[in-house]
Amino acid sequence: MKNVVERFLKYVKYDTQSLEDMDTVPSTEKQKKLASVLAEELKEIGAKNVRTDEHGYVYGTIPATIDKKIPVLGFIAHMDTSNAISGKDVNPRIVENYDGKDIVLNEELKITMETSQYPALEKYTGQDLIVTDGTTLLGADDKAGIAEIMFMAETLLTHPEIPHGTIQIGFTPDEEVGRGVDFFDVEGFGADFAYTIDGGELGEIEYENFNAAAAKLMFQGTSIHPGSAKGKMINALLLAMEFQNMLPVEQNPMYTENYEGFFMLYSIEGSIDTAKASYIIRDHDKAKFEEKKVRFQKIADYLNDKYGAGTVKASIKDSYYNMKEMIEPHIHLIENARKAMEELGVTPIVVPIRGGTDGARLSYMKLPCPNLCTGGNNFHGRYEYISIQSMEKITEVLLKIIALYTNQ
Ligand SMILES: [Zn+2]
Repeated sequence: MKNVVERFLKYVKYDTQSLEDMDTVPSTEKQKKLASVLAEELKEIGAKNVRTDEHGYVYGTIPATIDKKIPVLGFIAHMDTSNAISGKDVNPRIVENYDGKDIVLNEELKITMETSQYPALEKYTGQDLIVTDGTTLLGADDKAGIAEIMFMAETLLTHPEIPHGTIQIGFTPDEEVGRGVDFFDVEGFGADFAYTIDGGELGEIEYENFNAAAAKLMFQGTSIHPGSAKGKMINALLLAMEFQNMLPVEQNPMYTENYEGFFMLYSIEGSIDTAKASYIIRDHDKAKFEEKKVRFQKIADYLNDKYGAGTVKASIKDSYYNMKEMIEPHIHLIENARKAMEELGVTPIVVPIRGGTDGARLSYMKLPCPNLCTGGNNFHGRYEYISIQSMEKITEVLLKIIALYTNQ
């Protein structure tokens, strides 16, 4: 049996970076390579009903060992890595018995992970850490989740004496580009509830995320020679600035945290004649989220009143919603995760996510799906690292959750 670390070190060797703005799922063909490796491994360890599809999804089943009516649980992780930094030729290194000091990732390139900048490192003193060579990300997001699920699966399949219900496994492409569940076969997956294993440090349990919308603004100005512009010119770029200035200044990601929502301008371009701007709108609270969208539209209406109809066109589209509403009726998902951790001496950390997860979207596709930790830190960058002890603990947490559902 391969342990969780061996599996992880194997998976990070596959470059599975996904790309933004592609028409296809998966966005990059190379993700399918890992998909077929995982499908093969699932077959090897004895999973049933193993299948992949043209989009690179991998599914498999661990059959029940007992005849008892209990919920079918699913465990999901994503195969792709962020496009913020390369995930090619990942060269992981194990720092054994970490001494709590700065970690030199790459002597030649003088890349050091400093405790002053990453104070969370301190609590891993004495543990074994897997780090990068400073030139790529590590890919613990989310190959640690895959390795943990695989190890859990192999443990169950090699120990048929462990009582459990039917367990479904799903590995998805393109999570990092927001398309991870576009083609997820919820019905074929056949789970009543699931967990994504895609969070950060040991203990994290997440079931509240943002309500999210994307908004686009088109500004139509009137361009005219500046020498004769008096009373005639309408500068589209200044319209865009006027719009931004009417948004509440403090509701900006630069100034918000915890449950505070925001408007974020993320791109703007144009000329005197026309300009366009893109925003995202976020809030955990449904009512406040709706208010934000209304306010956004009202500013556009105001500018149209001021400068004439058609000056500003706003289109606002919801992206995803807070899964809390879908999880709360099944709060046992959170309670059992909490209990599993506590019984294993892990302190649960329940925090709102300031973003979305694949599970949030799945929760609105009739598969309630909170998110659990992988054990990793500093995702999407060269300073990404993961503790081996955390990974091992998380596999125990997964097995414990399954036991809690079996024995209740
Ligand atoms: Zn992830």
